Amino acid sequence: VVHGRLAVNYRVVLQDHHLNELRQHLLQGAEEQAAVCLGGRIATDRLLAILVREVHSVPQDALVTQSGAFIEIDPEWLASLVKRARQDNLSVLIAHSHPFSVGHVAFSGTDTHGQRQLIPKLQGRVSGVPHAEAVFGQSAIEALMWPPGELEPQQVQEIRVLGARMDDIPTSGCPGEDQPVEPRLSRQVLFLGLEGQRRLSRLRVGVVGVGGNGSPVSIQLIHLGVGSVVAVDPEGVEETNRNRLIDSHEGDDEKTPKVEIPRRYAARVAQSVEVTAIQAPVEEAWTALRDCDVIFGCTDDLLSRYVLNRLATQYLIPLIDTGVEVEAPHGNLRSIAGRVNVVRPGRSCLEALGMTSEEAAIGGLRNRRRPGYVPDDPSAAAMPANMLIAGAAALEFLKLVHGLFGGSPPDRYWAYSARSGELRSCETSHRDCPACSSFAALGDAGPSPSPPEQKDHRPAGQVARPRPPG
Ligand SMILES: [Zn+2]
Repeated sequence: VVHGRLAVNYRVVLQDHHLNELRQHLLQGAEEQAAVCLGGRIATDRLLAILVREVHSVPQDALVTQSGAFIEIDPEWLASLVKRARQDNLSVLIAHSHPFSVGHVAFSGTDTHGQRQLIPKLQGRVSGVPHAEAVFGQSAIEALMWPPGELEPQQVQEIRVLGARMDDIPTSGCPGEDQPVEPRLSRQVLFLGLEGQRRLSRLRVGVVGVGGNGSPVSIQLIHLGVGSVVAVDPEGVEETNRNRLIDSHEGDDEKTPKVEIPRRYAARVAQSVEVTAIQAPVEEAWTALRDCDVIFGCTDDLLSRYVLNRLATQYLIPLIDTGVEVEAPHGNLRSIAGRVNVVRPGRSCLEALGMTSEEAAIGGLRNRRRPGYVPDDPSAAAMPANMLIAGAAALEFLKLVHGLFGGSPPDRYWAYSARSGELRSCETSHRDCPACSSFAALGDAGPSPSPPEQKDHRPAGQVARPRPPG
């Protein structure tokens, strides 16, 4: 079995409100329109993506020529945006429309001629980052990307749109799939469809923390048949973890990394699923998660949650964060509760909800670096609650990536209480998070999502615990 994709995937990622804004402007009438997007990027050995951060519609008076078949942006108008791209190290994506194209859309000869003039100039002004052009037809989109310093463009394979669903709008560069689906997955095809199952097999999914929640999450992903799982956890197996680590063996000990368990599980039950095991804390391993399609947060510490929340926003990666808490002080059981939060950039952000904060993260980082530091007292753990929350999280994952039931609503979270037996969908208060919006879609152009070790004196933020319903 050959693991991993050898070819680089070229992608443009944007939030649904940005796509709507683009479509409304570009497809408003019979004449061509133009818009310029600025944004960050993800550059790894398997993915080069431009992340849209800002959309600027080109006003009528900034169009030198405009007709049903040709358009040119005033170089002076463009220069001010290019200057900002240069200052902030951002990619430029120039979009225009072919309103007469219904169904298929393609760049015209005039477009190609214009690109040969414009792109080298753009690369000269803003070097070291990819740039792109896109053309919008009434339904289709076509896009080309110029990797840093390259004169020949690469075909963008998909335009990824994040909202309640994570949709990929295929371009003409999207490879036609005729890969067979393994018979063990046939019962899933009955509700996901053949293309849905194939999409799963192309996804790279991060699981951060493979303990109580992360164990059943990673096991489900392996059974569902995702393409690859990136498991991140710094710890080795302890005997006291083994009441909730699926497929842990007698004889596993601290020398067995927790991340080794899903790796060896996949090798036995589903060899087509590649598991990358990274034994490190997420504040060190986050670079390996940048090209994941979705990330599950399955840790119970505020530092990891902070890093994941920032990573999700800055890299436009949906984060499905989970938590389970068994409250039993001195053996007196008060509650067994859990929650699932599906975080999309700028929506339902965990910082805005008060579930983590920079101050808490810095405190966690300081503790972790202290020699001889012992984390909190052992807390009670109930595997059935982990299984239930992991199951709810995996269902939201399927809703998100397949659009089942319209997708995973961006303004809800899920809360479980064992006392009432209810798993409830609750409304999240919609608050803007200035911290996140400062970094949204910056990707590699932004700062490290890990907190700085020191911070100037600021009032410590309140950190809320997951709230059980009722
Ligand atoms: Zn935020």
